Amino acid sequence: MLVIGLTGGIGSGKTTVGKLFESLGIPVYSADQRAKDLYQESAELKTQVLELFGDKAYIAGELNRPFLAKKVFNDKILLNKLNSLVHPLVRKDFQDWKSKQSSKYVLREAAILFESNTYKDCDYVITVYAPVEERLRRVMLRDQADQNQVMSRINNQWTDEQRREKADFEIVNLDQDLLQHQVRQIHEYLINK
Ligand code: ATP
Repeated sequence: MLVIGLTGGIGSGKTTVGKLFESLGIPVYSADQRAKDLYQESAELKTQVLELFGDKAYIAGELNRPFLAKKVFNDKILLNKLNSLVHPLVRKDFQDWKSKQSSKYVLREAAILFESNTYKDCDYVITVYAPVEERLRRVMLRDQADQNQVMSRINNQWTDEQRREKADFEIVNLDQDLLQHQVRQIHEYLINK
């Protein structure tokens, strides 16, 4: 079974593209969503996060996301420490999930597929592209966030050029009809591999 990485900058349309693949019968694993779940589900991770960040890391059993985001935003060492706790768990969780699938290939969606080196576990990588102004508009609308907040998240990730250079396929997400067409083309290629 092939593992296809699906990445792209914030608001580029990874989830939207993932849904189109799902409609073709391809299972999609969302690393970002599963990481969020694991912060709650894994007692081991919870303990380690509390050790690293102190009591404020969870409020009434729920991860204190804004607190953690603030802590790691300008502290790469702390961010790396946090990632080194979460990534092995997500990797194992993905392997468990994959072993239950039976399709020709599966998608593994992650915003920081390249930054986290997860792409090395993938046979191919698809990156989703949309212009920065368009991504800003979409995310501000979706998350009720202001321009500075979204821009700082964009600037914390790889650039489109960096992703394009390393990816095997690029999907341009502007027009919905063209999007479907690109997804079908890649699907045809992968299904015949
Ligand atoms: P994130 O990295 O934040 O998880 P993402 O890359 O998964 O984002 P989506 O959630 O798929 O991106 O899309 C971001 C927002 O833009 C969503 O609200 C989605 O409905 C909207 N969107 C996606 N594609 C298009 C499009 N072609 N035209 C207009 N809006 C779109």
